[in-house]
Parts: sequence; C-alpha cells; structure tokens
Amino acid sequence: MFGLMQEHPLLVSSLIEHAVASHPGVEIVSRTVEGPVHRCTWRDIHRRAKQAANALTALGVKPGDRVATLAWNGYRHMELYFGVSGMGAVLHTVNPRLFPEQLEYIINHAEDGVLFFDPSFIALVEKLAPKLGSVRAFVLMADRAHMPETTIPGLLCYEELLAAQYDEFTWPDIDERSAASLCYTSGTTGKPKGVLYSHRSTVLHAFGACTVDSLAVSRKETALLVVPMFHVNAWSMPYAAAMSGARLVLPGPALDGASVYSLLRDEQVTLALGVPTVWLMLLQHVSAAGLKPYAELALHRVVIGGAAVPRAMIEAFEDDFGAIVVHAWGMTETSPVGTVNNLLPTQRALPPEQRLDVQTTQGRAVFGVRLKLTDGEGRTLPHDGQAAGHLKIRGPWVASAYYRDEGGPILDDEGWFDTGDVATIDSDGYMHITDRSKDVIKSGGEWISSIAIENAAMGHPLVAEAAVIGIAHPKWQERPLLLVVVKPGQTLEREVVLNYLKDRIAKWWLPDDVLFVHDLPHTATGKLLKAKLREQFRDYRFPDA
Ligand code: ADP
Repeated sequence: MFGLMQEHPLLVSSLIEHAVASHPGVEIVSRTVEGPVHRCTWRDIHRRAKQAANALTALGVKPGDRVATLAWNGYRHMELYFGVSGMGAVLHTVNPRLFPEQLEYIINHAEDGVLFFDPSFIALVEKLAPKLGSVRAFVLMADRAHMPETTIPGLLCYEELLAAQYDEFTWPDIDERSAASLCYTSGTTGKPKGVLYSHRSTVLHAFGACTVDSLAVSRKETALLVVPMFHVNAWSMPYAAAMSGARLVLPGPALDGASVYSLLRDEQVTLALGVPTVWLMLLQHVSAAGLKPYAELALHRVVIGGAAVPRAMIEAFEDDFGAIVVHAWGMTETSPVGTVNNLLPTQRALPPEQRLDVQTTQGRAVFGVRLKLTDGEGRTLPHDGQAAGHLKIRGPWVASAYYRDEGGPILDDEGWFDTGDVATIDSDGYMHITDRSKDVIKSGGEWISSIAIENAAMGHPLVAEAAVIGIAHPKWQERPLLLVVVKPGQTLEREVVLNYLKDRIAKWWLPDDVLFVHDLPHTATGKLLKAKLREQFRDYRFPDA
C-alpha cells in the first residue's frame, strides 16, 4: 500500500523559490573582483537568476546542457547557481586553480556550451578559448565599464545580457533525478573525473547540512564561505543558505589573512567554512599583526574540512577567537559532507586534552550516509576505534559512477563506494582518518599513519607545516620521513623536533629523519601533494639504512 502524500520533485529551483518566499530581505554580501563590497538580497538573486535563465534560453541552452563557470565566490556566481540549474541545465563549476591543460581537458570533456568567467581570468580564457571546441558563448561576469579589449571571440557582457531579459521565468518541472551540477575531482592521480550531482541529491544534501548535528546552518548565522564555490558547491552552502536563510558573506578572490580577517570583523561573521590552509594564513596574520579576535569578532564556529585539522588549530580558534572548530570530512564524490564532528554532551565535559582527542577525529556520519570499514580482503572490520581499514560509504548523495562512465564501475556488489581513505570508527560512530590508502606507510607489516605524525609535528610552536612520506627501507619495507616548513624568521633542529614527537606518537612511528624545506607542494584544493613529494625524494635514503 502506498502512502497518500503529495509528490513534489526535490529541485534546486524550489530552494530559490523558498528563499524569496521565506527570507527575501536576507543579505548576500560579496567582496567583488573589481574591489568594492556589494550587497544584495535573496529577492535580487531570485530576480536576476530568472533573468540569467532567460538569457541562457536566448543563447540556445537546453535542459541537460552544460554551462561552465570560472569564478570566485560572489553574487553573480550565486545567480548562476540557481539560474543554470533552475532552468534544467547543468552548472559546471570549474576550478581555476587547475593547470591550463587540465582546464582545457575538463571543459572539453564536459562539452560546456557557455563559459561564464570573472575578470581575474581574462588572460587565462584568452589562451584557452581557441582550444574550447564546444563553447559557443563566452560571458564576462562584469558590467560594460569593465569589458576589456580582448581576443576572446564575441565576448558578451554579463550585466548587459541580464538587462536585456525579463525577470519572469517559470522554472521547469523536471525529474528530480536530473543532473543539476558537475564538479571534477582534482585528479591528483590520473585524469580529472566528473561527479554529476542531481537535483534530488543536492536538496537532500542541503537538508543534511542544515541539521543541528551536521553543519547546523540556520537563519541566525552570518556565514563566510572561504571554501570556494568551485569546490564541491562550496560544501552545499549556497543551497543550505537558501533553505535556512543564513546571511552569506562571499569573499571573492582575496583569501589572504588580512582580507579574511577584515570580512570576519566588518560583517560580524558567526560561522566560517574553509580548508586548513586558509585558516593557517589567518592565524599567522592574527599573530603577526598582534590582533585581538576575541574582542573584535563574533565568530563562534569554524567548519574545517578537506584535510585533517591540526590540534593546534582547534586550540588557537578556541583560545584566541572563542570559536569552536567543527571538523568535517567529505569528498567530491560525496557532495561532499559525509561526517561532521560535533561533541556529545558527555564529551563537552571532558578534560581539554581528551576533548581535543575527539575533536581531531572527523566526526560522525550525517543521517543519509552509511560508513563501513574493510580489510584488504574485503572483510568488514569492527567499529572499535582500533581497527583501521578501507573506508567505504553509501547514501543518496554519494556518486554511483563518474560522468561519461570514466574509470568504469565505482561501486562494489553491495553498492559501497571505496573512498580511498583509511580510517577507524569508534563505538559512538566517530570516524578518524589515519591516511589516504596510497599514503599509508607500511613498516614491518604494520601501518603508520602519516597524518598522525604530521599533526603531532604541527603542534610544535615553530612548525608552520609538516608532511610525512614513506621512504623505502631495506629492513622495514618503508619508514617515515618528516619534512618540515619552519615559521618565518625561525630556526629549528632535527633533534628538537624528534624530541618533541617522542612523547606524542608511538615510538616505532618516530620518523627516521627530519628535513627542513622552504615550502610543500599542494593540489588545487589545498591538499598536500604527496605524490610529488614521493617523486622529489625518490632517491633519498635514510642515513643509517
Ligand atoms: P574536496 O574537493 O572536498 O577536498 P576531494 O575529493 O578533493 O574533496 O578530496 C577528498 C579527500 O580529502 C578525502 O578522501 C580525504 O582523503 C581528504 N579529506 C577531506 N576531509 C578531510 C578531513 N577532515 N580530514 C582528513 N582528510 C580529509
């Protein structure tokens, strides 16, 4: 027997319609590429998203067609989030930090018909344009005054394009399983692969993000999206804000410590989201400039994901900002939110050291996704906080295949997706990533967690960043090598670092050597590029090996 409830598809257009009905006057604050801070409301985004949808129709875009953006976080990008997906086309948010060859590859692979881009990327698009066979319209996200002399064929002006259109548009009633947006994984290994989100997965994922034990996005927050809108849909925040009425602050291209700090202060931001590297820049700025964030800011929560959060970062936000770090884990393939770390009532009362032990884990699965651990033979491992295994995930916002079936099937017989991460899960459900499966260090038949050593090393007050890679060893198969970037103007010695680590990690995890480097390579999404480090130190041998 079926239930007798109405069936309405879960569509991205329903989010913008809700926003304008429920919180039309809530502000979206953007620091623009041109410089000034721009303020608008959901009413404006709604109106202009409809104009954008009409403009796309006039450009010949049909439901299912791919429309690309190369853009920072800003109000025009928001309009396209809702205008493109709302009219049934697929919003392809391209990561401008990728190499030009990768950009060419993914835009051609996605067969994007229109490319919208910010003025920062004019030179880049001039170079790419002749190689982008599918793109029939290039649109600069600016007004007439900012249109350049350019070689880009038939370059259109965003503001003129919108001004020529009515702001009436009826969102089509499409199947909720239709594609809404497309993101390519950064492709640290192999070619970038497209993850194609549906309207249904997008809306369910936003519902998940709004729940209190997840990101708790609500009307009472002013949320700064340091996480880029070209990075897994800014962790769902544009959609979650439309759903909840959170006030949004969009920082544009300026993500340095001083720029982020001034937005936090001037807009009295309460919730901020981003990867550890940007927060590192903020913390360094605050300490170098002798600022008093505790007194000046209203920040009370910082959601950090994309890479493991060092313990020292959680402490710094707590002590200097009076803000709680909410550690979260996910991947492009999981929309991205999979687990979120909020403390249980009993854990809040723990002594600080033990509480930090919990907070450095990646947290508990959000309702909707399920997690499991398996050993090398695919046998399920217990959730006892000890057994480390391959982390598998399934749920309605987890990919079932890559775009155009690149790389073939990605699910096992029971529908689980292998995340490529190695983790433990404890009896309360707290998941702890110990490594990427390809980064794990295999020493004498046991696994050493490179992330645990990195985090311990980053607790040293003079260490700016640390990376650990496995180096071949004649006796143990592999042993850890620690690479350290020292804070500007400081010096540090190998013995001091090793001594510091001695009390913080298992004895047999202690790195066999410590090398000091000027910087460490990162991917376009701010993760350590371990493959490059392994390549760089391929011929390195430990002194006593
Ligand atoms: P994103 O684009 O969200 O960074 P990617 O798909 O590029 O996602 O990378 C996902 C990978 O990033 C995960 O499989 C995991 O290895 C790593 N990751 C994400 N969040 C965390 C976290 N909180 N702690 C440790 N690793 C993380």
